[in-house]
Amino acid sequence: MTIGSEQTKTKSARLIKKLCVFCGSSFGVRFEYREAAIQLGRHLANSGIALVYGGARVGLMGVLADSVLVGGGQAIGVMPRSLVEKVIAHTALTQLHVVESMHQRKALMVDLAGAFVLLPGGFGSWEEFCEVVTWLQLGLHQKPCDVLNVASYYDALMSLTAHAVAEGFLQASYRESVIVEENPQQLLSQLGTAALPMEGKWVTTKER
Ligand code: AMP
Repeated sequence: MTIGSEQTKTKSARLIKKLCVFCGSSFGVRFEYREAAIQLGRHLANSGIALVYGGARVGLMGVLADSVLVGGGQAIGVMPRSLVEKVIAHTALTQLHVVESMHQRKALMVDLAGAFVLLPGGFGSWEEFCEVVTWLQLGLHQKPCDVLNVASYYDALMSLTAHAVAEGFLQASYRESVIVEENPQQLLSQLGTAALPMEGKWVTTKER
């Protein structure tokens, strides 16, 4: 599903070489969540797109990285030293960047990747995704931020963002710039052509 008014958007084909995925450090209760992570990993490997992610071997994060590596792809982890010391880092990654803080981790992930995708997860995944969408709103980057809505997991998020638009807390163009897809391959095929808002979100007092 792609929603969009063309008024404030730019549509340009981009070559995405690295995709940053935010996903749960848990597995979730449904088999579909693991299956989607496996499929996405497989498609990334087949497409020659490197994975950038949190570097863990736990939950969907580990499933995704394993799938990329088994498929012959590249998996790049970015992890704060404090988490590496808890021995949850994946030990077979193409590359593991060890940073000093969660803030440095997010900044490096944004630098490395050409696009971002949210898979099912909890607060950690949501926080990371909301931050990259916020940075898009502020014009700090021009990289697509999309959602893989596995088993309708993010229907509630879509309802919340529609409510935020209706209540005047979110500009429709930013909501519409987020592609929401159920199928990993379809999501990947749309990544490089996503329409992104051209204007920053700054709202003048007159507009309010
Ligand atoms: P959550 O969705 O709350 O499970 O958090 C997952 C997200 O937060 C991932 O994208 C990671 O960047 C980060 N995160 C949470 N837990 C861990 C962990 N045990 N190891 C590495 N990163 C984690």
